[in-house]
Amino acid sequence: MDEKNLLEQLNKFTRREHTADEVYIFPVTLCDNEIDRDNERFSREALDKLAEKFIGVTGIFDHNPKGENQTARIFMTEVVEEDKTNSIGEKYAYLKGYAYMVRTDSNADLIREIDGGIKKEVSVSCSAEKQICSVCGADRRVKPCRHVKGRKYDGKRCFITLDDISDAYEWSFVAVPAQVCAGVTKSFDEDKKNVVPRSEKEAAINRALMLKNPDGVAKKLFDCVKESLGDEELDELCRCLSAGKVTINCDEYKM
Ligand SMILES: [Zn+2]
Repeated sequence: MDEKNLLEQLNKFTRREHTADEVYIFPVTLCDNEIDRDNERFSREALDKLAEKFIGVTGIFDHNPKGENQTARIFMTEVVEEDKTNSIGEKYAYLKGYAYMVRTDSNADLIREIDGGIKKEVSVSCSAEKQICSVCGADRRVKPCRHVKGRKYDGKRCFITLDDISDAYEWSFVAVPAQVCAGVTKSFDEDKKNVVPRSEKEAAINRALMLKNPDGVAKKLFDCVKESLGDEELDELCRCLSAGKVTINCDEYKM
C-alpha cells in the first residue's frame, strides 16, 4: 500500500485530517502463528481476531515512558501470509500493524531510531479465552491437563495454542535485543501468576498512567496503594486502563 492510501486510512481513523508531513507512519510486526519461546502460539483465527482488536490500540516505547509523544497508535492491520509453513506445518502468517505518530520536536530522535531499524522488537499484551494443549487438546482455561509446555511427549514438544481472543490491551517496543522467535510476550486473565509477574503488571499500569497523566500524579498515587492491591484488583486495573475505562484528571488534586 502506498503512502497516499495509508494516509487516507489514517485520516479515516483520526478526528482531524493529517497531512503527510505531520505524521510518521511505520509498520510493526505484532505477532505470528509460530511457536514462541514460551512454547505458545497464536492460531490463525486468533491472528484475524487480533487484527480487529489492535486497531486503535496505543503502543509504548518501553525505554522511555516519559512524555505523551513517545507513543504510537495502530490505525490499520492486516494478516500477512507467507509462502512457507510454520513448525507445525501450517501456512506461516503474521499480524502486521500500521502505526502512526504525530511528528513533534521531542519525538524526532525516536523516529530516526525506528527508521534506522533499531526498534524492531515488539511485544503484545492480549487476552486469550482458549489455551489448547497440543498433546491432549484440552482447553487449559477450562480444565488444566498434566502436560508441561516445552516438555516432549512421544517425541513431540508440548505447546499451547492461543485462541478466542477477547481483548488486545497494548503493544510496546522493548529495548531488549532480539531473542528467539518473535519476542512476543502475552498476558492472560488465567494463569496470570505464572505468565505475567506482578512487577510487569505494575510497570504496565505505571506506563498507562503516565500516558493518561504525564505529570506523574496518578503514578505517585498508584505507587502509594499498589502494595495493598490484590492480584485480581491489579488485573482489573490493567483491564480498565487498557479499555480506556479510566480517565484521570488530577488537576483538582494539585496543591
Ligand atoms: Zn494436555
